[in-house]
Amino acid sequence: MAVTPECGGSEPSLSVAEARKTLLETLNPVTGWERVPVRSALGRILAQVLTAPFDVPAYDNCAMDGFAVRAADLTDTENRLRLVGTAFAGAAFSGRVGPGEAVRVMTGAVLPEGADTVMIQEAARVQLESVVLPACDRPGQNVRRAGEDIAAGRPALPAGRRIGPAELGLIASLGLAEIAVYRRPRVAFFSTGDELASVGRPLAPGEVYDSNRYTLYGALTRLGLEVMDLGVVRDDPEDLERTFAEAARQADLIITTGGVSVGEADYIRPILSRLGDVHFWRIAIKPGRPMAFGRLGGAWFFGLPGNPVAVLVCFYQIVQDALQRLQGLDPIPPRPSFRVPCDSAIRKVPGRREFPRGWLYQEGVAWRVRLSGNQGSGVLSSMTEANCFICLPEESASVSPGDPVEVQPFAGIL
Ligand code: AMP
Ligand code: MG
Repeated sequence: MAVTPECGGSEPSLSVAEARKTLLETLNPVTGWERVPVRSALGRILAQVLTAPFDVPAYDNCAMDGFAVRAADLTDTENRLRLVGTAFAGAAFSGRVGPGEAVRVMTGAVLPEGADTVMIQEAARVQLESVVLPACDRPGQNVRRAGEDIAAGRPALPAGRRIGPAELGLIASLGLAEIAVYRRPRVAFFSTGDELASVGRPLAPGEVYDSNRYTLYGALTRLGLEVMDLGVVRDDPEDLERTFAEAARQADLIITTGGVSVGEADYIRPILSRLGDVHFWRIAIKPGRPMAFGRLGGAWFFGLPGNPVAVLVCFYQIVQDALQRLQGLDPIPPRPSFRVPCDSAIRKVPGRREFPRGWLYQEGVAWRVRLSGNQGSGVLSSMTEANCFICLPEESASVSPGDPVEVQPFAGIL
């Protein structure tokens, strides 16, 4: 397995970019695929190149309501043409447009034979059996040419594309009822810790509800992975070993939270080394830092830190790209970020890449950001009240109000 050497010592030695790149380069797309009906492909990854079986659109047609004419008939002044018929979307004009003639057309109608241009209705004046039209700005205007969207035989969608609403529409416009998509990778996840209680029963003193299985369920499901929730596993070597072994038999990927921090790793390390090849990393990230990655039997293994916000930060900043690669996504989509002034003071010492959570808002034409509340690595409310990560690079020190910072929005329009 091509991973960087294990990180020892007390200093973080792997940058966020290195960790993400290593994971991305190590995981490969799943090989299995299946044919599914178009609607079931929403969110899935296309496993084949789709080529257009015919020109899209299939014939020259009218882009506007108006009059189909021969551009050569239109002089620079007013033009009176004889109306010889009408073409509707779905009901073509069966004749031919001759010199001095025009056909009334609706948007989507087949462009009548002989005509090459559509003059918009708003510029026309109908008088009995004729229409008066102004000069033509551009011969060929308001006509959608056959194949101008996609020519027959040309690739319409590449393999590796995630299917969204526009892709569903495009696939339907090609007349395809079924397409091949990658098999959904199966991911088993569980939480470790003696202090964890599952929801549905009262908390005993010293317990916390296990929230990580819920955030992970959300993040993994939304990415389109098939999830297997293996529950809470006590900090007990036999339970842990049994659960890891079972997960490795059933899943492509195992994700756990907790148990990789300095105090706890010693406990889990011997179990993992009996079952596979796992490396413990110290990553220059906050929140987060400890993370384990490797192979357990036939499955990839990601051991994330236990703190609830650290789980999400590590997931989005380090793990997600690799999971998308495993799904077959290609290319991995870039994540837009931009610089805006920050209202809040943020304390930071150089060394780690930090991801405080922020609220991005618009004031007049300008965007600004402020911290979204208590930034503790266990404080999920500051994540729910945020709409972006603020990304402070390794070398940066504290931020003063008004300083520009880089922000990464959680969501775009799609
Ligand atoms: P650990 O990484 O196991 O040392 O845990 C770090 C912190 O995260 C501790 O305060 C744990 O109680 C908390 N924690 C660990 N796992 C979970 C979980 N599944 N849900 C909520 N909090 C957790
Ligand atoms: Mg723990």
